[in-house]
Amino acid sequence: MNLIDTENLYCAHNYLPLPVMLVRGRGVYVWDDKGKRYFDMMSAYSAVSHGHLHPRLVSALTAQLTQLTVVSRAFYTDKLAPFLQKACELSGQDKALPMNTGAEAVETAIKAARKWAYKVKGVAADKAEIITCNNNFHGRTITIIGFSTEQQYKDGFGPFPNGFKNIPFGDTDALETAITENTAAFLVEPIQGEGGIIVPPDGYLKKCQEICQKHNVLLICDEIQTGLGRTGKLFACDHDNVTPDGLILGKALGGGMLAVSLFLSRKDVMDVFTPGDHGSTFGGNPLSSVVGFEALKLTVEKQLPDAANTLGEHFMQTLKDMNSPLIKEVRGRGLLIGVEIDGELSSARKVCEALMNNGILTKETHETVVRFAPPLVTTKGELDSALIIIKRVFKSLEEER
Ligand SMILES: *Cc1c(COP(=O)(O)O)cnc(C)c1O
Repeated sequence: MNLIDTENLYCAHNYLPLPVMLVRGRGVYVWDDKGKRYFDMMSAYSAVSHGHLHPRLVSALTAQLTQLTVVSRAFYTDKLAPFLQKACELSGQDKALPMNTGAEAVETAIKAARKWAYKVKGVAADKAEIITCNNNFHGRTITIIGFSTEQQYKDGFGPFPNGFKNIPFGDTDALETAITENTAAFLVEPIQGEGGIIVPPDGYLKKCQEICQKHNVLLICDEIQTGLGRTGKLFACDHDNVTPDGLILGKALGGGMLAVSLFLSRKDVMDVFTPGDHGSTFGGNPLSSVVGFEALKLTVEKQLPDAANTLGEHFMQTLKDMNSPLIKEVRGRGLLIGVEIDGELSSARKVCEALMNNGILTKETHETVVRFAPPLVTTKGELDSALIIIKRVFKSLEEER
């Protein structure tokens, strides 16, 4: 039996992978078991923004592997402080709480917001509300899918916790209307990634911040996908000059190697946590800390946000200039790009399969959106050779009809 069949036999079918067996990666490229090379335009949902096996990340990781890996936070370790200090300095936040996956950091943010509402804002016991957006994606735990508006994410998994209220994304009037004296926080993605690369109106976050400040509500931005340069600024909030009250990071923070996430916040919010309130066996371990530290350092030193900005504009313009009848819309910011396929003429899955056959890997989000999110270390030359292939693939799909 081949390994695809074996995986299908033993692995839960909670994904539907493209039929390619990857065995090696380097920079923007990955190779399959037959030695064929592909440009990785998926970057593991933006977790591989630094490219595969970045030499600086490999050395940081391997050096730490000879020293100390995991001891739990029952003890201090020498790598956590520099990592969190750097994350706080870069984000303008006071304190950080280290976790592993994105969903765990979102759960941490929810716990912090609720406890802040009770202990600091003075909301009555068990009444705290958190406002979230329609079409959000914040992860897969029961609490988080409970406030998802995607039926498939929820189907068969109820009952769900109370205390969440959904409003339309991009609508500041709806935010102001939804706020009550019990509102603890507004949790929002600066750009909805899994929701289909949805960019809100200009100035949206700035206005959200004003409304939140006026009503003493925490603005918590989930930048797990949009953070660390992906949208052309270090954080997507920077486009609006907003420093949120809480910031959630993950994905690229692990340098494409480990699950590393953080919830960052103001001192008065983070100080609601006392020893024993919350924790994680692996969160903040020395191995994760050195990788997170190096991932942050690389992002700044290599000016990855600027690269994403320049390459992203070129990428989007080229896609628009193709004027393909299959494409309804090209949208995004930096190197987080969504191409809306006309569902009458083709499907996103079909486009992804054709791209794969021509050496470009990416995946659809929903039925109609093809995502292009290459590593931020992509060079102009690498991008241009990929764009030639993308043009050719769209042409041949157009002719096929
Ligand atoms: C991927 C993602 C998450 C969940 O992260 P996991 O590491 O898969 O738990 C949460 N929020 C956003 C915006 C994401 O893109």
